[in-house]
Amino acid sequence: MLTGKRVRIRAKGKIFEGIVMPSFTGSLVLKLENGYNAGFREYEIIEVLEDFRAQVPRAEIVRREDLPNVKIISTGGTIASRVDYRTGAVTSQFTAEEIVSDVPEIAEICNVEAELLYNILSENMKPSYWIELARRVYESLKKYEGVIVTHGTDTMHYSASALAFMLSTPKPVVFVGAQRSSDRPSSDAAMNLICSAKLATSDVGEVLVCMHGTTSDEFCYAHRGVKVRKMHTSRRDAFQSINAKPVAKIDYPSLEIEWLSWRYRRGERELKLRDRLEEKVALVKFYPGLGSDIIDYYHSKGYRGFVIEGTGLGHVSTDWIETLKKVCEDSIVVMTSQCLYGRICDRVYDTGRDLLRAGVIEGEDMLPEVALVKLMFLLGNYSLEEAKELVKKNFVGEIEPRSTY
Ligand code: ASP
Repeated sequence: MLTGKRVRIRAKGKIFEGIVMPSFTGSLVLKLENGYNAGFREYEIIEVLEDFRAQVPRAEIVRREDLPNVKIISTGGTIASRVDYRTGAVTSQFTAEEIVSDVPEIAEICNVEAELLYNILSENMKPSYWIELARRVYESLKKYEGVIVTHGTDTMHYSASALAFMLSTPKPVVFVGAQRSSDRPSSDAAMNLICSAKLATSDVGEVLVCMHGTTSDEFCYAHRGVKVRKMHTSRRDAFQSINAKPVAKIDYPSLEIEWLSWRYRRGERELKLRDRLEEKVALVKFYPGLGSDIIDYYHSKGYRGFVIEGTGLGHVSTDWIETLKKVCEDSIVVMTSQCLYGRICDRVYDTGRDLLRAGVIEGEDMLPEVALVKLMFLLGNYSLEEAKELVKKNFVGEIEPRSTY
């Protein structure tokens, strides 16, 4: 077992040094000196330098009867680990003791129990992992007041959407990540985690994403899982609600919650899980000159769900119309916009009207990624004809009735 040890390896013709993190993918994951994690499939261990694991201080967990119980499920990403450069200690934030010794404020808000599900960068997520995650969250919701999912930020909004569709929840399910790992002075990990703990014990019953609201440590936003997107590569306030208001603002450090939009309240919905997804759904971004043979290709591979990220109000080249007409006979094609903000309206221009005649469905104000996950969910659970009707309907707030943003 190399986990927790500092090693020197040779990979890709270079030498790397770092601390071995838990990994589930068969790759070696190293926490490098610069604070980032890197995965290596092929490598040669040159030397095991030190074992820091034993030096990690552990807080003693004292269960408080007056506090709610919250489950933290780790899936990996930047938030999942830190290195204390003074001692070299690895704190993986995978056990309740590690989380509480790293972020002691959490123990004032709730009793935490922790479960390590994955330790992956979120670009390595897959629909099958969303299903496993949904099952774990579902089981946890039977016993705990709320669930926190720690997750890499890159694809957090896909996972949050997947859970929002698969899981009807009477309690909060809060996704949280960090743009900077907690061994860096500018880390957002602790504050995001503290605000997410507050949210996980609050009066809300839906899937949310909790991240910094500004670049400084003033407040976090709780975004609806189906209305949020990572909009910046590195800023701490990278996550923004699109075509909707954030659900809440959690002030820091007072942790007062201000509700900013409608929400599902705690206890409003019954706990249910529908854990089937059809993976053969494609998301295709149109650009000038892209031929419709890309659609033919997916179709020939058995894909029956398509989300197109079209231009403006929801367009692709007129050259695509014949292909789309053919594909729409046995598939669903949903149009979304690469503008992200605003609503699809294919009634304004001729190209749009042709698309509607071909059978393309307007994706309203849904984000392309959300439409993708929704189609996976619908095709996994309903017939094609039913899915064609249901995709236009709002399930969990992914379609706002009116565009006011
Ligand atoms: N690429 C990383 C991930 O999504 C970034 C992060 O952890 O936030 O897992």
